[in-house]
Amino acid sequence: MVTQTEIDALRNAPIAPRNLLIDGVFREAGAGETLPVTSPIDGREITTIAKAGGNDVDASVAAARRSFEAGTWSRAAPKFRKQVLHRLADLIEENTLPLAVLGVRDNGTEIRMAMRAEPGSAAGTFRYYAEAIDKVYGEVAVTDAQHLGLMHREPVGVVGAIVPWNFPLMIGAWKLAPALAVGNSVVLKPAEGASLSLLRLGELALEAGLPEGVLNIVTGKGSETGEALALHMDVDVLAFTGSGAVGRRLLEYSARSNLKRVFLELGGKSPNIVFADTPDIDEAVSGSVNGMFRNSGQVCVAGSRLLVQKEIATEFTEKLVSVANSLTVGNPLDLSSDVGAVSNVEQLATDLKYIAVAKNEGAVLAAGGKRILEESGGYYLEPTLFTGVTAEMTIAQEEVFGPVLCVMEFETAEDAVRIANSTPYGLAAGVWTSNLSNAHQMVRAIKSGVVHVNCYGGADISLPLGGVKQSGNGHDRSLHALDKFTDLKTAWISI
Ligand code: NAD
Repeated sequence: MVTQTEIDALRNAPIAPRNLLIDGVFREAGAGETLPVTSPIDGREITTIAKAGGNDVDASVAAARRSFEAGTWSRAAPKFRKQVLHRLADLIEENTLPLAVLGVRDNGTEIRMAMRAEPGSAAGTFRYYAEAIDKVYGEVAVTDAQHLGLMHREPVGVVGAIVPWNFPLMIGAWKLAPALAVGNSVVLKPAEGASLSLLRLGELALEAGLPEGVLNIVTGKGSETGEALALHMDVDVLAFTGSGAVGRRLLEYSARSNLKRVFLELGGKSPNIVFADTPDIDEAVSGSVNGMFRNSGQVCVAGSRLLVQKEIATEFTEKLVSVANSLTVGNPLDLSSDVGAVSNVEQLATDLKYIAVAKNEGAVLAAGGKRILEESGGYYLEPTLFTGVTAEMTIAQEEVFGPVLCVMEFETAEDAVRIANSTPYGLAAGVWTSNLSNAHQMVRAIKSGVVHVNCYGGADISLPLGGVKQSGNGHDRSLHALDKFTDLKTAWISI
């Protein structure tokens, strides 16, 4: 377990201005432009990142293409690829604390969560896909005696990966590890609000022996750098995690350019449904609080709509308010903080706007609701809870992506399903019940990519994460993620 003294030794370490990784070399943007990196901990500038323009994106895609065609990685022995990805996982593990602290200074996630969810998860992801390299085979079809039918899995070529700021290393690894494992070259575009730990990952990848040009990292604004990558004629597949609004644009960019395949992991408004027969009411309360307020609610699968069965609604809500109020919001680098900083000032403004809208629409503020610790210069918001919410209210329909939970009551399982499925989203859900049949029926009835039963969150890398409806169309994690980054090729052979 890490100590506060170890964290404190790193918390103010100077961070050199960070450059783009193109063709195995860190270099400034061609135009020499940079963007300031502001820490949500205190609102201060901690360093700068390069602002990649169209020419830089062209250079990164060209490097990726060159390396792919050269075969230094794409045609390298599986054993070599496996060794490199395992070595990268080793290096991530050796650098867990510095990577976590760097990431927290950039995006404000509480350090205890960041250690586990960022470097901890990324290392495990690289290992999982390293192991898959020599275990996922092509197929031999059943044919007549005169023919042999083979299905080869081939890397797609150049993958563009665009990721958000909430868990950059975890989500970055969900794209990079499977894409690299099957032999692709990648151009990664981190979010402008969380690029630092991914740039450090780029250094570690080179140290691990990843050939130059196989992983390129371009930082900058989504509307410039991201757009240039998504419109590029020589990117074969785009793997995206982020908002629905940007996801829609990427589909347009694909249509306007080379019809590249676009895989979208988008937002959610996930229902967390507590039946009166929940096995343990306190466990359901703490699971619901953790499933909502970790990382200031900036979690795509956050259980942001809590549906409680009428019989226990009063007791459950009282307990919920009490636990929410007991959370310590504070400097994310303090081990004592349960909830860190909201990642950026724009997100803080969005959160406060939704809180105001909820009040105006008649929801009852039962906990939190205010910006706090303003004197620190950082972006801190109380864990916020609304009761008396109806399914049509804005707060129950739109993703806030902040620490704002709405509580609704339901009477029957049918009501719960109707409310659960009443948003455009379908990413995640939770069900708390002692009745096995009820649990299975709910899993079938709720339209979402994952349904947690008697827990919320924490599913393993071996299982897919992806949405239905407007939560997206791709899957991260599990062996199914390899499908996004491979083409199937048929060989039909007369023998
Ligand atoms: P965002 O959509 O604003 O940005 C995501 C990425 O897209 C960033 O790198 C950004 O620079 C880039 N981008 C922005 N505009 C672009 C454009 N025009 N062209 C190309 N790229 C562009 O999302 P965000 O605010 O960083 O993240 C929050 C969203 O991500 C939430 O909706 C959340 O639910 C979602 N999310 C989903 C998952 C999942 O697995 N489904 C996981 C985490 C976050």
